[in-house]
Amino acid sequence: MLGDITTGDLVAFTSYLGILTWPMIAMGWVVNVLQRGAASMGRINRILEVTPEIADHENAVELAEPRGEVEFRGVTFSYAEGLEPALADVSFTVPRGHTLGVLGRTGSGKSTVCNLLLRIHEATEGQVLIDGNDVTGLTLSSLRGAIGYVPQDTFLFSDTIRENIRFGAPEASDERVTEAVRIAGILDEIESFPDGLDTLVGERGVTLSGGQKQRVAIARALVHAPAIVVLDDALSSVDTATEERIQQELKGALENRTSVIVSHRISSIKHADETIVLDEGRIVERGTHEELVAQKGLYANIYERQLLETAMEDSDSAEEQTDGEQQADREEQTDRKQQTDGKQQTDGEQQTE
Ligand code: ATP
Ligand code: MG
Repeated sequence: MLGDITTGDLVAFTSYLGILTWPMIAMGWVVNVLQRGAASMGRINRILEVTPEIADHENAVELAEPRGEVEFRGVTFSYAEGLEPALADVSFTVPRGHTLGVLGRTGSGKSTVCNLLLRIHEATEGQVLIDGNDVTGLTLSSLRGAIGYVPQDTFLFSDTIRENIRFGAPEASDERVTEAVRIAGILDEIESFPDGLDTLVGERGVTLSGGQKQRVAIARALVHAPAIVVLDDALSSVDTATEERIQQELKGALENRTSVIVSHRISSIKHADETIVLDEGRIVERGTHEELVAQKGLYANIYERQLLETAMEDSDSAEEQTDGEQQADREEQTDRKQQTDGKQQTDGEQQTE
């Protein structure tokens, strides 16, 4: 009769259905993965298709064996047409092995100086020169290879500390990495982590503090022994005692290197061979620490305020200490009083007895 099925047919049908279920699920899954992949590829392609504004020029030359002389010659720069210039007529020279300090209020153009030196942007007017070569005529790889740069906002990859440091110099030996970490003043802290230099940082690993990140970034900048070191407020998140310790180490490491040290704190640039003070993109003062203090201008002003702040912090901590001592005294007195009270009580009790 129509519609009748045998038991055998029913069993066969059910088992075919069972066999077909998985391929159907898999088809859906594959389509899903393909769609997602296509969307991601589209986004990646959009980035890859962008032609960078800053690229090697046709006749770009390699900066072979950089000596590390840095010069800004009448540099003016605006981030966009019609905007106030972020730097206006800035000129300075840093001979090989010298240190230039850059000080200024927030927004005065300090990071812009670093950006122009690394050719992240190009000067609107004037020239930025390294060893007498205009940076626009150098290959980007050789230019950036000559500079160890610690940006103001440090970025670490979700990888081990060692790989993060080796990022700029994949061929660096383990000894070099350890040495860079030591100079950056973070060796002890890294050694206290369970896996030392192989500790994972970021989402899947330990979260480093702001100061620790900055010091890992300093180690990254130093590991490939660059001719020029640029520190953009690289010690802003560490306390003054750690800063002093790192500076002692850096002094040795930077001896034969040219360095540009940007800072809000005078203590970081006090020993620079020359410091420029920027205000609204212009150099308003320049000289050594002593000369600048004697000029009684912006630098001296900032210096005095920072000295006062340090003095206040010191007196605060001294006060806390005195407070602590007084507290201890009070506790001791209470103890004694209780003891005496107890004694009197016992005496009293004895008397009653
Ligand atoms: P801070 O001490 O806060 O780091 P800074 O001295 O490093 O400040 P810069 O970052 O050099 O200051 O900025 C100088 C000026 O350029 C600021 O007025 C800032 O708003 C402007 N500026 C910086 N970057 C850009 C940008 N990408 N586009 C437009 N304007 C910018
Ligand atoms: Mg800055």
